[in-house]
Amino acid sequence: MPSLVVIGAQWGDEGKGKLVDYLTSGADWVARFQGGNNAGHTLVVDGIKTKLQLVPSGILREQTRCVIGAGVVVDPTVLLAEMGSLRGAGLTLSPERLTIDRDAHLILPYHVAIDLAREAKAGKNKIGTTGRGIGPAYEDRAARCGVRFADLFALPELKERLTDLLKQKNDYLTKVLGGEPVDFALVWSAVETAARELRPYTGNVSLLLDGALKSGAKVVFEGAQGTLLDQTHGTVPFVTSSHTVAGAATTGCGVGAKYLDHVLGVAKAYCTRVGSGPFPTIMEESVAHQVREKGAEYGTVTGRPRACGWFDAVAMRRAVRLNGIDSVAITKLDVLSGFDKIKVCVKYVLDGREIDDVPSLASEVDRIKPHYIEFDGWQSDFAGVKKWHHLPAEVRFYLTTVGEIIGAPVTIASVGAERESTIFSSGASFVRNFVQIPEEA
Ligand code: GDP
Repeated sequence: MPSLVVIGAQWGDEGKGKLVDYLTSGADWVARFQGGNNAGHTLVVDGIKTKLQLVPSGILREQTRCVIGAGVVVDPTVLLAEMGSLRGAGLTLSPERLTIDRDAHLILPYHVAIDLAREAKAGKNKIGTTGRGIGPAYEDRAARCGVRFADLFALPELKERLTDLLKQKNDYLTKVLGGEPVDFALVWSAVETAARELRPYTGNVSLLLDGALKSGAKVVFEGAQGTLLDQTHGTVPFVTSSHTVAGAATTGCGVGAKYLDHVLGVAKAYCTRVGSGPFPTIMEESVAHQVREKGAEYGTVTGRPRACGWFDAVAMRRAVRLNGIDSVAITKLDVLSGFDKIKVCVKYVLDGREIDDVPSLASEVDRIKPHYIEFDGWQSDFAGVKKWHHLPAEVRFYLTTVGEIIGAPVTIASVGAERESTIFSSGASFVRNFVQIPEEA
């Protein structure tokens, strides 16, 4: 102990990767617990960008061990390509540094084919998935017919099972979805490559983390996507196919709930959304355009432009509750620099009535009338700001007030993509101790 869970408190892309990378300077282990290669983190260190989809962000620190928990679905072809490019960038990737849980499920070519064929068939009703096969792989996990890393150690049995399974999948693909069948040779070649290349990286993450936590190691659990996309608690069907809330760290890594010491929620000073789905605080396009360009709000994985909206404190209060957020990091404050007024939604009105939580039905979320309060904007370029009390007064007022409205203190401010543009308040004592940052003078 201690351990820190870092989760996205909005719809993903909050800048978790940068925070996790920073926080791993104090961590011995970094664990991914859910999602697949639909998540994309961009880390910027010394001006060099590294894009990660599956490998935990801690990989940039030589002393940190990275694990991919059983709750993650892994496309082996994507993982191998990512490992290759990280090696190309000079990083050491060995089984001593990276372990994939034996119970994690594989994404295979038929999962991708089903994902794409379903979205194509849905036409204008599509969910807006990344088309990477994540949802179909999680479905197979629930249906108990998925392929796990442990299966890579028993190939003859797997071959027999996959032969039958692929017949069913191809029936569904061709007869129900009107798509093309997937060739067994393609599936088997992905399996054989995974077995050859990834068996040495397969291990028992639950056991490893249990040992680490009991011996006092510091562990960061790294969430992907965001709370409002949670499979159950998000606005179904416009959600991802895994649990994105902090509690998923326990099931996704096989550790007990008592080992989660602190939950850090990461949110932007505004909101963005990719994919389809209702978005109450969406900005007028002329404002959204400025935010999108300045904040580079294009999907890391898909390159899709993100819809941009004002900070939604009602949705954020939900995130604080669902995750048990202890403290909040607000990122991208620099992107809002130059605006005269900054809006924050503090109240939802649905069909003339004030409501106190995000509705369950997407059609209701669509009808919400957001009520805003306005803050004075800030004009700072933030260059060289390293201490909380050097932040512009308007920014400090905004952060403190937002913390009061959402019911969790904002203790970290991020004012740039670089690792060093991360500023801690004196209230960030857990995180400060974790990263071993001295108290502010
Ligand atoms: P994640 O999935 O939550 O890690 O988010 P993404 O990586 O998709 O998006 C965050 C993007 O914003 C990345 O390109 C980061 O480098 C960048 N970023 C993170 N924090 C800040 C910040 O405070 N200011 C600016 N301008 N960019 C930031």
